Amino acid sequence: NGFACFGFNKLILNSLESKGYKTPTPIQKAAIPELMLGRDLLGQAQTGTGKTAAFALPLIEKLENNKESNAKVLVMTPTRELATQVADSFKSYSAESTNLRTLAIYGGTDFRNQISSLKRKTDIVVGTPGRIMDHIRQGTFKINNISCLVLDEADEMLKMGFLEDIEWIIDKLPENKQMVLFSATMPNEIRNIAKKYLNEPAEILI
Ligand code: AMP
Repeated sequence: NGFACFGFNKLILNSLESKGYKTPTPIQKAAIPELMLGRDLLGQAQTGTGKTAAFALPLIEKLENNKESNAKVLVMTPTRELATQVADSFKSYSAESTNLRTLAIYGGTDFRNQISSLKRKTDIVVGTPGRIMDHIRQGTFKINNISCLVLDEADEMLKMGFLEDIEWIIDKLPENKQMVLFSATMPNEIRNIAKKYLNEPAEILI
């Protein structure tokens, strides 16, 4: 299997096997080793390139045997559809892994149900900025253990006016964390966000 060289544990390789993934895509080949080393990453990639697995797999690898009850990975997406898709990807890649829990949190659904979901042990939270911000503000999403933040489709989040929310959230997160920014386009505003928050990122253009 072409994924064996990355050093993933057997449970992840089993999940990839059952999904029928045999060869990593170019973005996966480029991004996975950098993320496994703990580097920040600035990636320009379109949907359909396999970018989700490119960040999800190394993050799942790092979470194996995570005993903390508060989430360690936060992924922000522009829409609830993408949040659901990305959360489903995390769930399927970690299907064989023990005890890893992924939660999707987005607006337009019941806040109270989300509160009780957030009370259980959670490893990965995937959501839209507005609702994530609401839960942080209310103290119902505990962010003290977040050690990795992914901004997915950052240019779309910018277009939708989420920049302020995103900056508010980043300012509340623990200082010491790995950051990943993916965007289909790289306008100056995105470059500026990268300059402001990413620490000597690996840059990948697919
Ligand atoms: P994404 O660009 O992350 O939205 O992924 C696009 C599609 O490609 C999704 O349906 C993935 O399940 C699939 N995919 C991602 N990586 C691979 C791979 N290495 N081999 C086969 N399919 C893949």
